[in-house]
Amino acid sequence: MPCKNCQEKPVFIQISNVKLCKSHFIRYFEKKVLYTIKKFNLIQKNDKIVTALSGGKDSTTILYILNELSKKTRRFTISALLIDEGIRNYRDKTKEDAISFCSQYAIPLEIITYKKELGFTLDEMLKISKQKPCSICGVFRRYLLNKGARKLKANKLATGHNLDDEAQSILMNQFRRNNETSARLGPITGILDNKNFIRRIKPLYLLTEKETAIYAFLKNFPIQFTECPNAKQGYRNDVRNILNQMEAKYPGTKHSIVNTFLENLSNLKEHYSHQSSLSSCKKCGEPTSKEVCQACTLLEEIKSILKK
Ligand code: SF4
Ligand code: ZN
Repeated sequence: MPCKNCQEKPVFIQISNVKLCKSHFIRYFEKKVLYTIKKFNLIQKNDKIVTALSGGKDSTTILYILNELSKKTRRFTISALLIDEGIRNYRDKTKEDAISFCSQYAIPLEIITYKKELGFTLDEMLKISKQKPCSICGVFRRYLLNKGARKLKANKLATGHNLDDEAQSILMNQFRRNNETSARLGPITGILDNKNFIRRIKPLYLLTEKETAIYAFLKNFPIQFTECPNAKQGYRNDVRNILNQMEAKYPGTKHSIVNTFLENLSNLKEHYSHQSSLSSCKKCGEPTSKEVCQACTLLEEIKSILKK
């Protein structure tokens, strides 16, 4: 059976069994990103958007689409920010891809390294800390992305989070009975009245990981489809495997999880709104709900192990 819209060979079959050829799939994908931006009001006129770029398929895809949109509409500006954690045989390669992508499309790219900002690479931290790689990495990545985006004077940070990522986060929070963290999910996050916390937008929110991988492949982006060597150790990886098994057996599972979540999100946000006010970290000035932020606390822990 050919593509639903023409006689070309299909490259993708939707859950509803609709088949799409290369050009109609690309059109479908880009239209859905636009729909997501409009539906959730992710971008406003004069926004200064920095995209968190890892050099992987998701962030490269969203950077490409936002850059095209920025050139076409001239309503907002785009740049990229890469956090180099110092993961050998991984980040060094994706960093090269990110540099070559940004130079190909003339997108300004800022690179921030763990080593320079924190004093250690992630690999060095993992040699001395007993914590799981993604727990450490997640804290410092979020911290440096916010700090970096502010340094670049951006008012929004776009990330490559897709529907799979969100479904995983929702389930992880359910499994850990962590509703308050779920209240901070959604296609746009952050607190309006805190200028130190850069709002985050997820324009790939309604697109699956598979769809994004196909898009990146069809567009021939200069990227390697590699995975971080630490990814297998994380809790998220187990949840991802469960979800993929469920999706294979019951197609539409991931969409159902995210859509049900969206129906309840405003109630959840309202319920936890009194707990979401942020102050500034006593040590570094970054936004935090405690006296000292998570990144400063974790860094102190790592340094104290070294002193022993
Ligand atoms: Fe960091 Fe974990 Fe992602 Fe690797 S998989 S980049 S360690 S969060
Ligand atoms: Zn701090």
